[in-house]
Amino acid sequence: MARFTAFEVTKEEDGSFSRAIIERDTSELPEGDVLIRVAYSSLNYKDALSATGNPGVTRNYPHTPGIDAAGVVAESNDSSIAVGTEVIVIGFDLGMNTAGGYGEFISVPSGWITPLPTGLSAREAMILGTAGFTAALCIHKLEGAGMTTSGGPVLVTGATGGVGSVAVRLLSQAGYEAHAVTGKSSEHEFLRKLGAAEIHDRSEFADESSRPLLRETWGGVVDTVGGAILFNGIKGLKYGQSAAACGLVSSPMIPASVFPFILRHVNLLGIDSVELPLDQKNVIWSKLASAWKIDILEDLVAPLTLETLSDAIDRILAGEMVGRGLLQHAS
Ligand code: NDP
Repeated sequence: MARFTAFEVTKEEDGSFSRAIIERDTSELPEGDVLIRVAYSSLNYKDALSATGNPGVTRNYPHTPGIDAAGVVAESNDSSIAVGTEVIVIGFDLGMNTAGGYGEFISVPSGWITPLPTGLSAREAMILGTAGFTAALCIHKLEGAGMTTSGGPVLVTGATGGVGSVAVRLLSQAGYEAHAVTGKSSEHEFLRKLGAAEIHDRSEFADESSRPLLRETWGGVVDTVGGAILFNGIKGLKYGQSAAACGLVSSPMIPASVFPFILRHVNLLGIDSVELPLDQKNVIWSKLASAWKIDILEDLVAPLTLETLSDAIDRILAGEMVGRGLLQHAS
């Protein structure tokens, strides 16, 4: 047993949700195969939903959010995962209804655990976190559907956010012409530094007219926002190309027709990083540690502590975060 510090969200009697930094004991964590001392976690949009009582993410409070964690195995009931192993846990139920990476310890089933791949540190893994992992998963699936560097520019929406910023960098490093869609005119410099070839204002993609198709432009789309922006991306896909949909910060709905699908033979690919089987997660982490290793990861970091997390949660909900919020635990 060990005492540790955690960020906790509590549902108050009046239905509101409060946040506090508390002391806990590892004996209060759920019974898992493996106890992990967490060194780093990160801030994702979903963590902010958990911290504000979104029932689609978290049903039971008090709760410690944090869908990402990287650290060292402290105790293990699984002979394949030795004490002292450096590991990553993202997705599954971590930070949803299982106490997450905003505590200095987590206790999880061994089937959720990826050994830290050679070539990636725990810090680098959490700079990426679920958001960076999801960006890579989008590109992996788009390439599986035929996306190539010669197929035309690739559109990335929500480009200054966690998923979007990593997607822009991964695409530009891999030789794609990445076009960034952003609502932040102040962050064009940041996007250029990531390698964006062109930057489009979000308003260019807001049109909800019934025009069935747009000029064939995109060799692929990485969409983090949903709604009209996603469908305008789909309408502008080149013949036979694909859009990967992973997010909903603009809208969970798509004002869509079947025209692009039946006239341009295009595809809409679904992306889920949460329940993706562990063997497939490991493939993506290996790529991120080797061929797809991002050379300017530190430039993406917005550093966080348990004390500054609450403000950052409000900022990400307001769509104001830039890059990746990295939480480093004190001990
Ligand atoms: P962030 O908040 O970091 O980024 C979202 C970005 O979207 C913002 O930075 C902003 O970028 C843009 N944006 C904000 N509000 C709006 C709006 N109203 N309309 C259009 N664009 C907007 O979030 P993440 O990158 O962490 O996550 C993005 C989405 O992906 C979320 O919906 C999240 O839940 C989802 N997600 C899904 C996963 C999956 O497995 N399917 C895994 C990880 C995330 P800008 O100002 O540059 O336009």
